[in-house]
Amino acid sequence: MVDASKVKENIAKMTNKARGSLSTGKVQPHKHCRVCFTPIKMSAEPRVCKDQECIDKNSRDERNQKQMRIWMFVFLGLFAFSFIGPLVLNSIF
Ligand SMILES: [Zn+2]
Repeated sequence: MVDASKVKENIAKMTNKARGSLSTGKVQPHKHCRVCFTPIKMSAEPRVCKDQECIDKNSRDERNQKQMRIWMFVFLGLFAFSFIGPLVLNSIF
């Protein structure tokens, strides 16, 4: 049998705990390593911890992102040209 009053008590305890951590637990401003999510200093730049593995992974990701952006521009340019190109040609001739 589940004791209803005990359950109520537990819920009250849990909510108290949650409220307590909200009001008293002041977390210092910090960032998290974008690879392993370890808390790091606000001033840390790039946003990774001191772990070499994370540094490597971050620089690799950044390179990939740059490449992705270039490809996005290329495709967008081609896409735009396929629409604008005929219009421009039509307006000239
Ligand atoms: Zn890390």
